[in-house]
Amino acid sequence: VNSSNSTPKEEVDVWCIFTKAAGNAPMKYKLLTFSHSLLESANSVVVSLHVIVDTSSQRIAQEILQGVKETLKKGMKVTFYDVNQIAKDLKSLVAAMQPHFSSQPGSYYSDSLFFLSLGLHHIAPSTMTRAVMFDIDTKLRSDVGKLFNLFDSFGNDTLFALAPELSPVYRHVLYTYRSQNPTSKIGDPIVTGGYPGLNSGVILFVLDKLRMSAQYPQLIQASNVTALAQKYSFKGHLGDQDFYTLLGFEHPELVSVLPCNWNRQLCPWWSEHGYREVMPQYAHCEGKIHVWHGNCNTPIPAS
Ligand code: UDP
Ligand code: MN
Repeated sequence: VNSSNSTPKEEVDVWCIFTKAAGNAPMKYKLLTFSHSLLESANSVVVSLHVIVDTSSQRIAQEILQGVKETLKKGMKVTFYDVNQIAKDLKSLVAAMQPHFSSQPGSYYSDSLFFLSLGLHHIAPSTMTRAVMFDIDTKLRSDVGKLFNLFDSFGNDTLFALAPELSPVYRHVLYTYRSQNPTSKIGDPIVTGGYPGLNSGVILFVLDKLRMSAQYPQLIQASNVTALAQKYSFKGHLGDQDFYTLLGFEHPELVSVLPCNWNRQLCPWWSEHGYREVMPQYAHCEGKIHVWHGNCNTPIPAS
């Protein structure tokens, strides 16, 4: 008999990737920061964490996550998935993406982890209808339950939601297309009404719609991915987010754009490499920061 009046909290499914962590202290610290901040701020929901690992990284993650639960005196279900098995299952997906969106199109296995979000609906248990994936170089400052509330704001066709890329990387990558199509908004910052592209540090998945979609399997076929990349003269190096960026521009109804506060990227690289003047327009993000993203190994503010 449940003697309390409170309704049980909803369980939410949160995914992350944690590989090549053996002997890598920065990776361990990132998982600690991410998982502690996630569990500490999750007040309205119960977190079920799904971690994609290699064998030695699994042992490291187990120890870190156990410590976080004990420190916070809070429960969290943790499930591990083998990255090598997933790479096998998603082999054709990776083969379709890699020629266009990878810096080293030869290194197949090490690369596949950067594309596997695009096939998460095949990896996740079929009963899972919604999920969120975070990079582990992130830190939450708000309840992840609030992020899940955004699912209710999506249109009928939405399959994914990602926050904008907050650097001019796609202005750079799309140089050829933009010079040949000077009125196009792709690669422009949001503050000028543009579409700067998307960042995959935080991804929302409408898993049930992904599984039912007749269109999505066609969109990720090699011939279609090649045609899409050719249309935009696109040669990227950022993995899944290059595809989400093109998909979101071509089919905006399939990819919702999250508020920038849920993935506030901190990497200053493009500002230091020829784009100092325009960087502030891209990095512009108002309001409370819900998630810091210390991309390109940028330190995250303490609070
Ligand atoms: N990752 C991993 N092992 C690696 C490299 C990356 O598990 O050797 C995962 C990790 O979750 C990381 C994500 O892949 O957050 C994306 O890489 P990263 O955050 O370093 O890229 P950035 O955001 O700096 O572009
Ligand atoms: Mn990252």
